[in-house]
Order: sequence, then structure tokens, then C-alpha cells
Amino acid sequence: MSKTAEKLDSNHYIALEDKYGAHNYHPLPVVLERGVGVFVWDVEGKKYYDFLSAYSAVNQGHCHPKIIGALTDQAKTLTLTSRAFFNDKLGVYEKFATEYFGYEKILPMNTGAEAVETALKIARKWGYEKKGIPQNQGKIIVCENNFHGRTTTIISFSNDEDARQNFGPFTTGFVSIPYDDIDALQEILKADKHIAAFLVEPIQGEAGVFVPREGYLTQAAKLCKEHNVLFIADEVQTGIARTGKLLAVDHENLKPDVLILGKAISGGVYPISAVLTDNHIMEVIHPGQHGSTFGGNPIAAAVAMAALEVVKDEKLAENAETLGQLFRSEITKLAGKSKLVSKVRGKGLLNAIIVNDSPNSTTAWDLCMKLSENGLLAKPTHGNIIRFAPPLVITKEELLECTGIIEKTFLEFEATM
Ligand SMILES: *Cc1c(COP(=O)(O)O)cnc(C)c1O
Repeated sequence: MSKTAEKLDSNHYIALEDKYGAHNYHPLPVVLERGVGVFVWDVEGKKYYDFLSAYSAVNQGHCHPKIIGALTDQAKTLTLTSRAFFNDKLGVYEKFATEYFGYEKILPMNTGAEAVETALKIARKWGYEKKGIPQNQGKIIVCENNFHGRTTTIISFSNDEDARQNFGPFTTGFVSIPYDDIDALQEILKADKHIAAFLVEPIQGEAGVFVPREGYLTQAAKLCKEHNVLFIADEVQTGIARTGKLLAVDHENLKPDVLILGKAISGGVYPISAVLTDNHIMEVIHPGQHGSTFGGNPIAAAVAMAALEVVKDEKLAENAETLGQLFRSEITKLAGKSKLVSKVRGKGLLNAIIVNDSPNSTTAWDLCMKLSENGLLAKPTHGNIIRFAPPLVITKEELLECTGIIEKTFLEFEATM
């Protein structure tokens, strides 16, 4: 194939999306057709390291044989019953997942945003029925620069103007405080008796991998307990071994009252999400009050069990912890050589390089284009921040090859500036 013919292939698929799809994303111009483990291939046959992992959904690696086996076996047997009937997979999964995460109950949904919505509904109902908040006066505390998904209620408490503009009127009942600010939390909890819950990301992923001060989550959970407020952790991105522990809250040995999971609970194979709580909270939900046609379907149940087994069998949390430290130490060395790197931060294999240029410049985007030419896919988030989150099955040799690609790309780019 000639070079121009190769180019036409990618351009063809890009043109199709451009013409027929809503323009609700701004992808890098790479058209992927295949993935195995840490690698993906584009339609021209070029191989890349995947350092986005579908926003940390593909922690177990692309097309993991065990997870794909569970998917295809179940797909040939029974796919969907709805919850109008029982099926022989859901209960088995519910027992497995509650024991795995240490909760009494699970409520299965499909996407991360749906699980967040579910948690908010549970928290409000708990607030009225268990805490005794007067009707329609319940509030939920959230953090500035949060990302919890795209539904109307969730964007109601976002402060990202792109996410909100002209989508109002918004859902009320949310109070926003600065992230990683324990005094702000204490103040609002003292001042307001109608608070049902505090919703927080243990690390703010989309905002640019902001890791809070050590002890923040522990203190926040303690304050919540003192004020009879539910502590809700959104671990959709940080969960399932990404940060070097099964859950990011495990770094502080913390058990949230309400745990929200999504993304890698399926290994990126199927849309699966869940809310976990103990009985005294989940019991506020009765038939007819919440649900989803696809939530907890037999394929989802089979896939999630396989995906969670892979995490333990292959010690992905331990690998993320070790290789995350290696990644940050290698990039710290690069920061000594390249003025473009102002900082690297993160936990486990959820890391970001802060690019030393104005947040309004295109430097991070341009660097991602060059990284892609050099065989590594990553995406900027919020201005000049590049997130690096490979599948957790990556080996030490592969990781070092990747930090080599990053170093080469940054140094080459700097030389042309
Ligand atoms: C991705 C994400 C969500 C939303 O998940 P979707 O499956 O895209 O709806 C919610 N919370 C966090 C922290 C996320 O990273």
C-alpha cells in the first residue's frame, strides 16, 4: 500500500464520524481496529502503546482472553432477561462482588454516570427516611472541578462551563466546596443540618489527576460520620487496581458508606457499573423506585466476575504500585532535562505530566500528536496536563520503553520550539 492510500484509510473513517456522528468529542486523529494487552493497532497497521486505557476502563488489557471467554460463553447462553425475572448469574455475581469489595449489598447499573445518579438517589432517600431531613430540603456536598459524568443532574453540580452551558435549568440541592479542603467541609457540615451526603473522587482524574493531601479522605470520612452524613466515593476511574490498591480509598484503609464503580469493573469489555453499600443504607430502595433494563444482565454478571478475578489473579494492584513509582521516578529525571515538564504527579498507574506552558496553548495536544507518531497514545486533559494511564498488565520492560518514548518525544519537541 502506498503512503497516500494508507492515509486515505484513516481519513475515510474520520470523515464518516465527522459527517454522520454528533461532534461531542475531539479525538486524536488515530483510527484503531485491534487491541491486545497494552497494545492497539490502527487501520494502517501501526502499533501503539495505549496510555489512556479508555479512561482507565481497560485496566486488565485489551481483549483479555479470560474476560472475552466469559463474554462469549454467556452471550451464547443467555443475554438479557430484564429484572422482571430472576436469572442464574445475577445472584452469583452479587455474592461475589459484595464479598470482593466488603459490602452487604450491590445495585448493578451500566454506565458510570448511572451509578453516580443511583448513589445520589439512594443518599437523598436515606437522608429523608433515616436521617430525618425535612422533605425536599436534602443537600449533597460535592467538590469543585469534579467529574462524575454527563447527565443533567450530574452537570448541575459541575463547574466546567463547556459541560453546562445552555443545558439548564439545573437540578438543585448541591453545595460545592474546594477539593482537598477539610476546613471547608467542616464549616459546611457544622452550618447545615440538611446534608445527606458528601460525594468525592479519591483522586480527581478528569480535572488533571489531583491527588489530595494524605489524610484528607480519612478526615473527611470522620467528619461525615460525626455529622451523620454519607461518605460517597466515586471510584469509577480510580477503582479496580488503577492507583496501586484495589480501591484508591484503600491507601487510607477507608470504607466509604457508598462506593461507586464503573469502567474497569468490566475490563472495558461491556458497560458495567455498580453502587455498593451496607444493608442499613440500601434498604431504603424498594421495587419500582430505581432500576435499568440492562442493569445486572447475565452477560454483565459473567464479564464482571471474570474481570475482577483477573485483577487478583494477575496482581494488577501490586503491579500498578511498583510500576507507578518507576514511571514517576523516570519522568522526574526527565523533568531535570526538559523544561517542558514542570511536574509529574499521580498514584499507581494513574499519572499526569504537567506541561510547562500556558493552559491555553496547544502544547499538550501537540505533544500528544508527536507521542502518537512515536507509538504511544495519550490524551491531554484540562489545558496543559497529559494523563498517562496504561493497562495495568504492562511489564517493567514495556514501561521503560514507554518512558523512553516520552523522553525522546519531549526532547525532540523542545528542540523545535
Ligand atoms: C468516567 C467517570 C464517570 C462517568 O462514567 P461514564 O461511564 O462515562 O458515564 C463518573 N465518575 C468518574 C470519576 C469518572 O471518571
